[in-house]
Amino acid sequence: MPVGDSCKGLSLEGVTKVYRDVVAVDNVSFQVPDGSLFGLIGANGAGKTTTLRMILNILQPDRGKITWNGRPVSEVPRRTFGYLPEERGLYPKMKVGEQLVYMACLYGLDSTEATRRARQWLERVGLSDAWNRKVEELSKGNQQKVQVLVAILHDPQLMLLDEPFSGLDPINTEVLRDTLLRRRSEGRTIIFSSHRLEQVEELCDRVAIIHRGRLLASGLIADLKRASAARLVELAFTPTNGQLPDLDPFLAALTPCGVRVRERRADSLRLELADGLAADQLLKLAVQAAPAPIRRFEVVEPTLQEIFIDTVGATDPDAVKELMPQNQN
Ligand code: ATP
Repeated sequence: MPVGDSCKGLSLEGVTKVYRDVVAVDNVSFQVPDGSLFGLIGANGAGKTTTLRMILNILQPDRGKITWNGRPVSEVPRRTFGYLPEERGLYPKMKVGEQLVYMACLYGLDSTEATRRARQWLERVGLSDAWNRKVEELSKGNQQKVQVLVAILHDPQLMLLDEPFSGLDPINTEVLRDTLLRRRSEGRTIIFSSHRLEQVEELCDRVAIIHRGRLLASGLIADLKRASAARLVELAFTPTNGQLPDLDPFLAALTPCGVRVRERRADSLRLELADGLAADQLLKLAVQAAPAPIRRFEVVEPTLQEIFIDTVGATDPDAVKELMPQNQN
């Protein structure tokens, strides 16, 4: 993949932003190729919003450079980008249709085209009857969908969405998901920040993991999975005579052999193997100690959530306890 200025898409090189005594973003470099759906992930205060605002040229980096298709973002026309800010900013008393057309016109559309697109997109997201309603009369989730449309209507090449899924119910989550996939299939580039890593994993091809302002990893999710040192096995049992398996003695037998529990459910386990323990050795041990017939034994890849926890944990073990208290069993 081409990097730096020659990258078709977005490039950050050595970007740093300091607020008084806080280094919010610390020498961060990554590339987002044109046409990607890219997830920016990190805990609270990691520097995601600051990074997005620098890409948008709302904030200027203290050091480093940010380019879109090789041009510094400060020279890129504003309508190239669409932004969903973390602190949502609609006019509550304004009617939905009027608001969408107004915002799209600010980005250079004429009002006829803005009206056509606003009606089309409202219908796509299930809000065709909201045209004449005031924004404040809509539910929070529907207000958020309107705000996403503000970031879409002028058909930006790059959309930057700060926590777009927060506060959405499962149906609206699905609507937003489809909207982002549609944008990508239209050749547009999307970067979004999220704490919901299962959503990021499902949607994105690439991610950047940031922690306390520093970039810990970036690239294709598939490559991060391949590079992960975690060796994981999923093991499921068949309940017998309506009884769930008693997993405690089973785990007591396995733990001394170098097995750590990543996740425990009523009839299944996700286990991490220590160095030196091969999966087929574990299978032998599991068959000997099984509390019920084994229904499934599978070597699996780490999830994005596990990669995130492992990556952050490798540099900052204490942070992982805060992030994932349930993971520390
Ligand atoms: P969250 O997930 O909580 O929204 P984030 O990853 O978006 O967090 P940022 O909002 O970019 O993180 O904040 C990064 C760091 O910079 C934090 O330590 C934050 O307190 C600090 N910070 C952000 N904005 C300012 C500001 N205007 N003045 C001073 N410090 C700031």
